[in-house]
Amino acid sequence: MCEHQLTQEDLEFDKKHIWHPYTSIITPLKVYPVSKAEGSYLYLDDGSKVVDGMASWWCVQQGYNNPRLNAAAISQINKMSHVMFGGITHKPAIDFCRKLLSLLPDDLECALLADSGSISVDIAMKMALRYHNSLGYTSKKRFLTIKKGYHGDAFGAVSVCDPVNSRHSAYNGFLAENIFCKAPEIRFDCSEEDVEQLVEELDVKPFARLIEDNHNEISGVVMESIVQGAGGLRMYHPYFLKRVRELCCEFNILLILDEVAVGLGRTGMLFGFEHAGVVPDIVCLGKTLTAGYLTLSATVTTRKIGNQISIGPDGCFMHGQTYMANPLACAVASENLSILMEGKWKSQVCQIETQLKKELLPLLEHPIVADVRILGAIGVVEVMKRVDVEDLQERFVKAGAWIRPFNNIIYILPPYIITSQELTILTEAIKYVLDFI
Ligand SMILES: *Cc1c(COP(=O)(O)O)cnc(C)c1O
Repeated sequence: MCEHQLTQEDLEFDKKHIWHPYTSIITPLKVYPVSKAEGSYLYLDDGSKVVDGMASWWCVQQGYNNPRLNAAAISQINKMSHVMFGGITHKPAIDFCRKLLSLLPDDLECALLADSGSISVDIAMKMALRYHNSLGYTSKKRFLTIKKGYHGDAFGAVSVCDPVNSRHSAYNGFLAENIFCKAPEIRFDCSEEDVEQLVEELDVKPFARLIEDNHNEISGVVMESIVQGAGGLRMYHPYFLKRVRELCCEFNILLILDEVAVGLGRTGMLFGFEHAGVVPDIVCLGKTLTAGYLTLSATVTTRKIGNQISIGPDGCFMHGQTYMANPLACAVASENLSILMEGKWKSQVCQIETQLKKELLPLLEHPIVADVRILGAIGVVEVMKRVDVEDLQERFVKAGAWIRPFNNIIYILPPYIITSQELTILTEAIKYVLDFI
């Protein structure tokens, strides 16, 4: 038995005392002990290995145990793991931000580093509120968003998540009441000739009406760029985002785009908003920044907004967290951006997309399959009914794949470095489990 292997006692302790995501502390779902990960593989304690189809929830683009990212972490850990950012600065933060800003559109140039995606969304919302307040628009205190979104589990973020999925009714009276438009209907891959007209009619019109009726109260629009991730892996048409950008400009509303999941290449573009040719007023980045090594987020805005907030009544932006710009996280993120800037990601994502289309689209013929959607390195198979997660997960593991479905959605977003043989293990596993749903 290797030293990292868990004992029965360990597992019982875990089950009794440690909460896992979205589980009961009384009857938790089964967990699989993992002791090591390498490339695209997770190694389970029973000696088997599974291809990670989830990239540990969007994060691990460059594979596990990546030598360059390891080296960056080790080199930094030997200098300093952490130092407060109040009154101190350091090379890892500066290097990381220099690279990040060089990748973002020119207008986005003021970065605030924090420690999770949820918090980056909270920060963006605070920025929008402080910006309008400092301009004297004191009634602009709410946010407009679309249903089926996901922005994290902190309260600010929750207030713009899908109201049903994130149980808004449970926090009634406490949670900020924001404005929700129906989720866009026209999908990314819609091939109708008059697609823009359809988007205008079905998606833009209801959104525009909410803006026209409420713009005096709306500080910002918060949306995920193109892909609505944890809210159902929906992919909306870029023309919708283009029109939302125009409406925000017209009505003095800030556009906050959440790229926590799709930023850094996942959709085939470096940033999801590039599909629509727009630039947000504030962008939120997270998950993908350190390629799965450490938690780090960046909220980036324009000089105009940064300045306006700073000349407001506070004379500053009132936000500062203990682990802000953590040097270890910044050093890894900086190396991750170097890897991205070498440009391989583009062909990797493109190859994954081509293979996903070839291997997943035929599943549309299976009677249980309702839809197949593919964009960049994201593959989604929607089935006709809610799946039994624990049962399917067991079957996936037997088939050599780490895939964790939710509701009626089976999806994969593998590391960019996955080989075509490894990717086939994932798509074959999906094909295999369909007969058991
Ligand atoms: C995961 C996610 C978040 C929240 O990030 P955490 O680091 O889990 O807090 C926010 N927005 C989107 C789009 C996400 O996918």
